[in-house]
Amino acid sequence: MPLVPCRACGHTVDTSAQACPGCGATDPGRKISRQQRELRSLLVQLTVALLLFGGGAWYLWHEYMPTIKAALVKQNQG
Ligand SMILES: [Zn+2]
Repeated sequence: MPLVPCRACGHTVDTSAQACPGCGATDPGRKISRQQRELRSLLVQLTVALLLFGGGAWYLWHEYMPTIKAALVKQNQG
C-alpha cells in the first residue's frame, strides 16, 4: 500500500484512502496521480498530433508543390 502526502494538508495517507484522516479531504492521494496521468496522456496525444500534422504537411508540400509550380508557370505563359 503506497503512502502519499495529502494534497490538502500534507498528512501521510494511503493512496486507496477515501478521505484524509487529517483534514477529511476526499481522495487525498488519487487526485494528484490522476491529474498527472491525464497531463501525461495529454502531452503524448499532443506530441502524436504534432508529428502527424507536421509529417502530413511536409508530405503534402513536397507532393503538390511541383504541380502547383507547373500550373503557375503554365498560367503565366498564357
Ligand atoms: Zn489532509
